[in-house]
Amino acid sequence: MIRGKRMKEKEWVIKNLESEGFRIPEKVRRAFLKVDRKLFVPQQYEDMANADTPLPIGYGQTISAMHMVLIMTTLLDPEVGDKVLEVGTGSGYQAAILAEIVAPSNTEIKKSGHVYTVERIKELAEFAKENLKKAGYCDRVTVFVGDGSQGLKEFSPYDRIIVTAASPKVPESLKDQLKVGGTLVIPIGSIEFQSLYVIRKNSEKTFNIKKSISCVFVPLIGKEGFDEK
Ligand code: SAM
Repeated sequence: MIRGKRMKEKEWVIKNLESEGFRIPEKVRRAFLKVDRKLFVPQQYEDMANADTPLPIGYGQTISAMHMVLIMTTLLDPEVGDKVLEVGTGSGYQAAILAEIVAPSNTEIKKSGHVYTVERIKELAEFAKENLKKAGYCDRVTVFVGDGSQGLKEFSPYDRIIVTAASPKVPESLKDQLKVGGTLVIPIGSIEFQSLYVIRKNSEKTFNIKKSISCVFVPLIGKEGFDEK
């Protein structure tokens, strides 16, 4: 009964986006319906886990609203077998959705993808690891502590890179660590207000840059992001 109610709330989020003309591909829809957001929010917010709103996860940070996760995942367009870098692990929820697409549960695939995710706040990285373990994704997602504005060179190049914090510009390290033919999705703008950008790497030196919707994210703090105050 509760499970049925949850499903309806999540389907409503998809319907709402589609009524605004934003089509959600089947692979994104399936992953979104499969991953339980309740496993990624602090206990006191469990009752609100299926509300389409950002929720606090501690340390002044948030888990993004569900519609934003759907939009960013759709713009990123990950494929089975992809190697993905996420900058801004937070709760681990977005990473789990990406893992469900690149290395799906319940299928026998030979070429399985992986999600590498970087979080600058050590305690949140630990929170995300626990959440990912509970949800069954710790074998498909690896969490690192560090400044993700400089990417994660060790495992580069990546098929897809997603940044879930606001940056003043596109970090050069992320452009370098993207494969040719790969896609980067990142909120760019001021601390107060940003737009999502979809950046496709056409060759080592050429990029196709498209501006998408407006958004508001917490800042990307680091060498190639905003300065810490
Ligand atoms: N994707 C997350 C989720 O599914 O819960 C939500 C991300 S939250 C909106 C943004 C996160 O980016 C915060 O946890 C913040 O600490 C982190 N962050 C900010 N600057 C960072 C940096 N330079 N490197 C890595 N993480 C960073």
